[in-house]
Amino acid sequence: MKVSALDLKRQIAPIRQELDAAIKEVIDHTSFILGQAVVRFEQSVVRYSGAKYAIGVSNGTDAIALALIALGIESGDGVICPTFTYFATAGAVASIGARPVFADIELDTYNISLTSVEEILSKKNKFKIKAIIPVHLYGQCADMDGILKLARKYKLKVVEDTAQAFGAEFRGRKAGTLGDCGAVSFYPGKNLGAFGDAGLILTNNRVVADRLRILRNQGNKNKYYHLVLGRNNRLDAIQAAVLEVKLKYLDEWNRKRQEVAQYYNKKLAGLAINTPFVPSYTTHIYHQYTLRAAGSNKRFLEYLQEKGIDSRVFYPMPLHLQKCFKYLGYGVGCFPEAGSAAKQIFTLPIYPEMTLEEKDYIIDQVLIRVRH
Ligand SMILES: *Cc1c(COP(=O)(O)O)cnc(C)c1O
Repeated sequence: MKVSALDLKRQIAPIRQELDAAIKEVIDHTSFILGQAVVRFEQSVVRYSGAKYAIGVSNGTDAIALALIALGIESGDGVICPTFTYFATAGAVASIGARPVFADIELDTYNISLTSVEEILSKKNKFKIKAIIPVHLYGQCADMDGILKLARKYKLKVVEDTAQAFGAEFRGRKAGTLGDCGAVSFYPGKNLGAFGDAGLILTNNRVVADRLRILRNQGNKNKYYHLVLGRNNRLDAIQAAVLEVKLKYLDEWNRKRQEVAQYYNKKLAGLAINTPFVPSYTTHIYHQYTLRAAGSNKRFLEYLQEKGIDSRVFYPMPLHLQKCFKYLGYGVGCFPEAGSAAKQIFTLPIYPEMTLEEKDYIIDQVLIRVRH
C-alpha cells in the first residue's frame, strides 16, 4: 500500500465547485492585486482569529520579515529564534539584515526552551537583542506565558511564527494573536493552504497594522507617493478568494487531524517510541505528527519508505549547523536538544481525509518495526 504524506486532491474534490466559482469571480472583476477579495479574506481572518487586524501578504517568510520591520527591528539587531525550525524563520531575520540568535528547544514539545532563551538574555551580547520569534512547531503553541514574561522583562518584540499552527489555541486564544504580531503561511501544504504562495500577519496594534499595509505595497500611502522603503509583498486576489472558501473548513479539517493523531496515540501507546507530548496550555492541530525513537531515525525512515509510507524528518539539520548560517559562528554540540531531536524524530502521514485502512496499515508497519 502507498500512503503519501498529504493528498490535496482529496481535500479539493468536495469543494471544487465553490473554489472554481470564487476564482471565476476574481477573473470577472479583473481586480487581481489586493482589492475586494483580499479585503474580504482579511475581514474573515479577523473574525476567525479574534485579532484586531489581519494583513494579507505574499508568503509566510515575508510575513515574518515585514512584521520585524514594522516593529522597528533594524539591521544589526539580534532576534532570538529556535534553531530547530524551518529555514524561513531565521531566513526572514537575516533578510532584513538582522542577526539570528539561536536558542535550543525543549525535549518533549520541540518548541523553544525558555531556559535557553533566559541564558542568552542574561549574558552580555555583542549586539542588542530586540525581538524573539517563538515557532509553534508542528501545530502546537510554544509556552507563550513564559515568552511574554521574558519579553516584558527584556523589552523584546514578539513575532509568533504561526506558519504551522493557524487555528491552534493557547489557553483559549488563537495562535498568532498573543505576541506583537503573528506571521501565518498559506503555503499549499500547510493546514490552510492556498493554490500558490500566500501569507498573512495578525496584530492587535493599529499603528503596526497601518505600517504593514504601507510596507507590503512598495511604501505607498497614496499611489506614487512613497513614505517608507517598502517592498512588493502583496497578497494576490485569486489566492485570497481560494483561502476565503477554505477558511470555512479549517476547524473541521483540524479536528479530523486530531482524530487521526488520537488514533495513532492509542495504537502506539506503551511502546519504546515517543508519541507527541501536548502541554495543557495548548491545543495541537497536527500539521505534523512526529514520533521519536531511541536510536537513529534513518533506519525508521528507510523502513517506512520501503513499505510505501511517506515518512519525513522535520528537520534533519538544525539551523545553527546550516552552511548559510556559518557566519554566525555556532558549532556542533551548541544546542544538544535540537541536535538529538534531528537524529531521532520522524513523521507519520497525517491529513484530514485519511482512510481507516491507511491508518491501520501505517500502525501495523510501525508495530512490526518496533517489536522487532
Ligand atoms: C512554512 C514555514 C514558513 C515559511 O512560509 P512560506 O509561506 O513558505 O514562506 C516559516 N516558518 C515555518 C515554521 C514554516 O513551517
